[in-house]
Amino acid sequence: MGICKCGKGSKVYMKIKYNYHTHTKRCGHAYGDDEDYVLRAIKDGYLELGFSDHVMLPGISQPGIRGEFVEAENYLNSINYLKEKYKDEIKIYRGFECEYFPKFASYYKSLLNSKKVDYLILGQHFYMDENDQIISCTFRATNIEESEKHYIDFLLQGMASGLFKYVAHPDLFCILRKEWGEDFEELSKRICEASLKYNIPLEINLCRTESKDKEKWKYPREEFWKIAGEYGVRVVIGADAHYPEMLDIVAFDRAFELIEKYKLKYEEKMKI
Ligand SMILES: [Zn+2]
Ligand SMILES: [Zn+2]
Repeated sequence: MGICKCGKGSKVYMKIKYNYHTHTKRCGHAYGDDEDYVLRAIKDGYLELGFSDHVMLPGISQPGIRGEFVEAENYLNSINYLKEKYKDEIKIYRGFECEYFPKFASYYKSLLNSKKVDYLILGQHFYMDENDQIISCTFRATNIEESEKHYIDFLLQGMASGLFKYVAHPDLFCILRKEWGEDFEELSKRICEASLKYNIPLEINLCRTESKDKEKWKYPREEFWKIAGEYGVRVVIGADAHYPEMLDIVAFDRAFELIEKYKLKYEEKMKI
């Protein structure tokens, strides 16, 4: 990594060379062929690329959000093929981005134990209620208080589970409301405390920065990362690519600004 300064007084920020947050078209809201992501990553100088598509789950169908379970094998085979084909040019890893659903914890464990995946990351977009219904606690949430409660509850369980390499967009709850508040402050502190307690890094997620319109950048949320700096948590950067070009066009300088401003402990390369 590195933040270098050019002679004109303005800062030039490096791009990242390691990205472990990449989706595929199987989720229904990402685009491009798997190989196009790899070719783009090689072109952009990445040294490692981790695929972490939204996890496909047995018995669960959420079109437009995650692929059907029958597609999981094709996904893993495809990444395996690319891993071998491009092994001299880039290191490729197979993973999934998963919500922590207690019901599927053993499934996640079996994916890791059988080495079908190299790693999992935790992205708590939804929770599962007592009737096994999957309910949004982020993008499609309707009740802020309820959503905050479920988001933090399941996220913390996931962080404690030891199944995940890092927490994707921990500040995702900030999309529930525009204004910062005491509740957000409290959630941020609890996430940072858990990050230290379970020694699990938090991701500065750049998915929403692909738009040139900064008004649309719902995260990373400045207030959250200020608190993260005070706690001294470990931090990674994720492009969260939903089409190949995103590996190049997201606002990496925004992540490096936050890292520099709040003295965040950035780790560019994950041990997998
Ligand atoms: Zn997605
Ligand atoms: Zn996500």
